[in-house]
Amino acid sequence: MAFSEIATKARLRRMVARVCAHSGQAWAWRHLAPKPSVRVLAYHGIEPSPTSHFSVSVDNFERQMALLSARYAVTTTDELADALEAGQLPPRPSIVVTFDDGFRDFLTHAVPVLAKYRVPATCFVIAGKLDAGDPRFLDRHGVLEALDTGLVTIGCHSMTHRSIRQTPLGERIVEVRDAKSSLEHAIGRPVDHFCYPYGTRNDFDDACAKLIKDSGYRLALTSINGLNGQRTHRYKLRRTKIEAGDDIRTFERILGGALDIWYVADMLLFALQRRRRVQFR
Ligand SMILES: [Zn+2]
Repeated sequence: MAFSEIATKARLRRMVARVCAHSGQAWAWRHLAPKPSVRVLAYHGIEPSPTSHFSVSVDNFERQMALLSARYAVTTTDELADALEAGQLPPRPSIVVTFDDGFRDFLTHAVPVLAKYRVPATCFVIAGKLDAGDPRFLDRHGVLEALDTGLVTIGCHSMTHRSIRQTPLGERIVEVRDAKSSLEHAIGRPVDHFCYPYGTRNDFDDACAKLIKDSGYRLALTSINGLNGQRTHRYKLRRTKIEAGDDIRTFERILGGALDIWYVADMLLFALQRRRRVQFR
C-alpha cells in the first residue's frame, strides 16, 4: 500500500475519532454499550515503519502499551473465557490485546514491548505457516520463544488463512479442528481460542461458530468492531482494530469508544469489506 494511502486512512480515522469524541456520539454510544464490558484490541504487524495501514510502528505501539499498563485492567483471552463461562465479566472495563497472523515481527518488535510493560497478549497463528519456512511468519521456535515470556497465549487463526464461511463444509474441519491439533502438537500445550481469518460478516455464521465450539475452543474472535458484554455470542466476539496512523490521542479516543460506531458499517457494508482481503501465499 502506498504511503499516501496509509496517511489518508490515518487522517480519516483521526478525524472520525475526534468528531465522535467531541460531538458526544462516543458518549451516547458508550451509554448504549453493554456493562460490564471487555474491549479486545486487534493488532497485525508491528514494524519500525509501517508498510500497510494494518501495521503499527514500534514507537506508537510502545506509547500505547505504556498507556494501557498505566490506566487499564489488561486481561487475557483465558481470563475472558473464564469470565464468559462463569457469566461474570469483571466489573471494571477490561482490555484484551490480540495479534493476528503470527508475523515474525510479533517476536522481534511486539514481545520486547509487551515484556517491558508486563502486558499479556494472545497471538493468533496460522497453523500451516508454522513449519512452512516462510520468513514473514513465526516458526515453532519463535512461538516457543514468545511463550517463554509467560505473557503470551497462542491462539489458532485457521490452517491456511481462508474465510471459514467461504470454505466448503468438508474442508472446514481442516481449517478449524485439524489446525487446533496441529498447533497443540507443535507447541505442546492447549490451544483454546480461535480467530476468524478476515472476520467480517462474510467470514463466519452460526454453523462456523458451532463447528468451532464443537472442536473444543472456548471462544472465537471476529473483526466486527465494538465492545463485548456478558450476552455477546462467545464464538462471535467483537474487536477494536488499531492501525498505522493511530497516534496516542486517537488511541485514547478509540479506547473511549470513539470508533465503536464503525460497528454499523461492519454490519451493513460487509460486502465491500470482503474485496480488500489479503492472501498469504
Ligand atoms: Zn488474518
